[in-house]
Amino acid sequence: MQEEGLFRSLKRLSSPQGPEIEIEGRRVLNFCSNNYLGLANDPRLNAAAIEAVRKYGSGSGAARLIVGNCELAEELEEGLALFKGTEAALLFNSGYHANIGAIPALAGEGDLIFSDELNHASLIDGCRLSRAEKVIYRHNDLNHLEELLKNPLSHHGGEGRVRGRLIVTEAVFSMEGDLCPLDDLLRLAEKYDAAVYLDEAHAVGVFGENGEGLAPRNPPEHLICMATLGKAFGSYGAFIAGSKVLRDYLINRARSFIFTTALPPAAIGASLAALRIVQEEPELRKRLWENVRSLRGQSPIFSIKIGSADKTMAISKKLFEEGIYVQGIRPPTVPEGTSRLRLTLMATHTKEHLERILDAFRWIQNS
Ligand code: PMP
Repeated sequence: MQEEGLFRSLKRLSSPQGPEIEIEGRRVLNFCSNNYLGLANDPRLNAAAIEAVRKYGSGSGAARLIVGNCELAEELEEGLALFKGTEAALLFNSGYHANIGAIPALAGEGDLIFSDELNHASLIDGCRLSRAEKVIYRHNDLNHLEELLKNPLSHHGGEGRVRGRLIVTEAVFSMEGDLCPLDDLLRLAEKYDAAVYLDEAHAVGVFGENGEGLAPRNPPEHLICMATLGKAFGSYGAFIAGSKVLRDYLINRARSFIFTTALPPAAIGASLAALRIVQEEPELRKRLWENVRSLRGQSPIFSIKIGSADKTMAISKKLFEEGIYVQGIRPPTVPEGTSRLRLTLMATHTKEHLERILDAFRWIQNS
């Protein structure tokens, strides 16, 4: 890995999250986090976390089906269901847990999963664990997807029963920053009797009139929405929104829900505070979008393709030395030869912060 420029190591952070952070002993401008609304160190989330610890303690003690079903979790789920306009919601410990638990619960041996080629590792792992047959379609290419839905290449396995079809995609692609063409995708899914599993990790809190994401409120029955609480919500955890039947089913079948200790009260408390703020303070989203538009983006994620892993990391290092932290992304996170700088904006970045990143862009173009 070291020889190929693919060795990764950790950088020590010694400040809370924010537009400026202290990392490896240096104060730098932060263009790396998914803390889009700047809530990860919001005093109201911090206070809610502390309050939850006072009332319920630090640990949750067990899985939710055992003795870890803190009432705060149910309160959060009811709030999240209202937020998404669904009958119910179910918390997972993280987006990764949600994807590796829900996808194998929804599709199994003999079923077909149609997966965008740029889907996040947690979606890929969920598909693998499901043992369903995986059909990869070109990124956001609905013509290709339709071809495959019509004629899914191979027909082995699952004879004698109707094969379920599940389309798996991100709403906002985490490494590209582009959006899936959701309306057309939903129409296509309906036409071919497929369900859609939509990962809104980078969409909730950012898109939608009230921050509900890319999916419409009251999503159609064949759309299952998953979203995280660790990004725009500034906390930790994830949820799936859908029908009561879906919630009951996942409680009984999603192994990453059943066999893990429940989220700690502090994280749930902070998420409850975040849910209120996301809905009641559209100004935060407005500020985020002013920043995104000033750099002419279509989401807060900007992807600057460099190509080789070595060159990407060298630029990232040079920027860091200049006091600007922009993460370099290499394989296996992105395909070979598409290493890139991934830059994310926050509502709390100032005009001056953006000026500095624009200067950095100019420097990259000329280097
Ligand atoms: N899905 C996508 C698209 C993501 O970008 C991420 C996080 N990088 C996840 C899922 C996993 O979410 P979490 O960090 O809550 O495990």
